[in-house]
Amino acid sequence: RQEQFRALRAVEPFSADGVRVNLMMNAGLLVDLPQLDDSGAEGIGLFRTELQFMIASRMPKAAEQESFYRQVLDHAGNRPVTFRTLDIGSDKMVSYFRSQEEENPAMGWRAIRLALDRPYLLRMQLRALMKATAGETLKVMVPMVSEVAEIREARALMAKEVQHLARFGHQVPKKIELGAMLEVPALLYEIDELMAEVDFVSVGSNDLYQFFMAIDRGNARVSDRYDTVSKPFLRVLRDIVRAGEKNNVPVTLCGEYASKPLSAMALFAIGYRAVSMSPTAIGPVKAMLLGLDISAVSAVVNAALDDPSNTEPVRRVLERFATEH
Ligand code: PEP
Ligand code: MG
Repeated sequence: RQEQFRALRAVEPFSADGVRVNLMMNAGLLVDLPQLDDSGAEGIGLFRTELQFMIASRMPKAAEQESFYRQVLDHAGNRPVTFRTLDIGSDKMVSYFRSQEEENPAMGWRAIRLALDRPYLLRMQLRALMKATAGETLKVMVPMVSEVAEIREARALMAKEVQHLARFGHQVPKKIELGAMLEVPALLYEIDELMAEVDFVSVGSNDLYQFFMAIDRGNARVSDRYDTVSKPFLRVLRDIVRAGEKNNVPVTLCGEYASKPLSAMALFAIGYRAVSMSPTAIGPVKAMLLGLDISAVSAVVNAALDDPSNTEPVRRVLERFATEH
């Protein structure tokens, strides 16, 4: 099978009924980069920048950050890379800062919260990213946004950095695309406002599922308790992609949800056309996609989601579709 997947590397990801889907991979370290070629990913849809910080014994200096980002971009060549600003805290601990014990670190001082409280950190990172993408396009997204005001604040910090760099004669990126990760359910109820502020949205399916279901993603006792392709979660994911269509804002999804062929199939069914996943999942997901009739699966899944009297688990609907086709 491994051989079979390797043979698909150069095959363009079209569904059987001709829908073009963008398959990207998640990464976070330089050792991940060869996987771009091995997997046939079209780019890096999620670059977890905190990993450079997690493996270091002290905070990476500005120049180290910049050179790290440059190496990533050099390796990617003309394949796009979306950098995520530091997602420190909770399961992503960095030894040389933060100290306080938190009872609920997943809902604690982390990610964008920490970054906005310690803006020098975020500004240093944004500056390094901008220098690394001077004259090119910088794609950057912010993790764990809970309210639209946070993305406005992040954008304001970014604008300050652009000014700062320009004032000191540095070349700035030709274009900056700022995105928000959708991981906190509250944002679902501020979604049109969010779409008005961002260039793209990326659903962080691991955290969105965790907070949506109130299920600790790191607690094996409960993490598999509920079906991930359930009606409520699929409805939410569909609402997000529809809000993107309505507001003309690209919506992608990263996280493990896209890594399993069955849930990836559900994503294509409800309208996702760009997903980012573990590099090892690209082969299996592409193999599934090539044989998938998206309009057929779409009709079946949407009908199931739209019919409150239908009590059959969506997972079974998907499995039946998969066996019959
Ligand atoms: C996610 O939450 O789905 C995600 C992509 O980010 P991480 O897994 O790094 O929290
Ligand atoms: Mg996350």
